[in-house]
Amino acid sequence: MLRQAKLDQQHKAIALTFDDGPWPTTTRQILEILKKNNIKATFFWVGRYLQTYPELGKQVASAGHAIGNHTWNHQYIKYNEDGAAREIDRTSSLIEEVTGVKTSLFRPPGGILNNGLAAYAQKKNYAVIMWSADSLDWRTATQSLMDNVMRQANSGGIVLMHDGGGNRSRTVQALPDIIAKLRKEGYKFVTVPELLQMQEQALKKQETAQK
Ligand SMILES: [Zn+2]
Repeated sequence: MLRQAKLDQQHKAIALTFDDGPWPTTTRQILEILKKNNIKATFFWVGRYLQTYPELGKQVASAGHAIGNHTWNHQYIKYNEDGAAREIDRTSSLIEEVTGVKTSLFRPPGGILNNGLAAYAQKKNYAVIMWSADSLDWRTATQSLMDNVMRQANSGGIVLMHDGGGNRSRTVQALPDIIAKLRKEGYKFVTVPELLQMQEQALKKQETAQK
């Protein structure tokens, strides 16, 4: 389970993540902003939305962004193993069918870790990806969602935002400024798989140094 990666001091990297898509209009707008800024991000998809908007999904994947599983139905209920399997397996199968990507990333809806989903994901060897900086973009105004990100930003951090699941125009509005501000503070933007890799390298370096 990962909320934030431990990196070397020489690296200042952060991962932008977008949940609850693919979603009409806003997913495309966010893709545009990321492209303009030459940034790769990580998208956690809801299976039933991907089923509705497979073309959007293809666009995200072919732009080189990382893809994660965010369940089929996005519900905050308890699951037995069969139920969790349905939510997670079905979504990963569709992701692979639509994009060719076999994802090993899982993010539980609502960040709930004790309702059976995260346990099943871990059993199936997914990395359970949480976050360290919550934009609260689903409920706050553009300015405060920007402040939320900047206040919690740190190296190895994972920023939670949303491209789908509702009206995300504030996220679209805030994103260019968030990117500019983080850049000004010296952050490099990486995907979650890249962040995991960087953490592994930092650990190896530490181990060698201790020998
Ligand atoms: Zn979500």
